[in-house]
Amino acid sequence: MDISRLRKEVYLLDSERKELQDRSVKPHNIIRGSLYTIYRKCGNPNCKCARGEKHAGKYISISKNGKTHLTYVRKKDLKRVEKGTRNYKAYQNNLARIREINEKIYTILEAIRDERVKEYK
Ligand SMILES: [Zn+2]
Repeated sequence: MDISRLRKEVYLLDSERKELQDRSVKPHNIIRGSLYTIYRKCGNPNCKCARGEKHAGKYISISKNGKTHLTYVRKKDLKRVEKGTRNYKAYQNNLARIREINEKIYTILEAIRDERVKEYK
């Protein structure tokens, strides 16, 4: 087994993790949920929506305990919420990558140990 190659891999994974950590320790504007456009009728029988031209609205969708909750996003907040939900998704991706890196490093360190470990007799 090429231990120096394994060491190099640990080093590379570690610096990638460091970068992800540095980007994640001070989150700015992260908003949980996904943004959706939903078309609805308002209930007024004389409105254009009653003739099929429904009202478009932006909603944040969050699932809690298997249930989906929708929250209407006010027009004045839309830019911030769009950015915030994008940031949240990126944050979640960072976390997933950090977990993957941790597992890889763990596996490599075990392999290095197994290569070097001695039995006392
Ligand atoms: Zn309407």
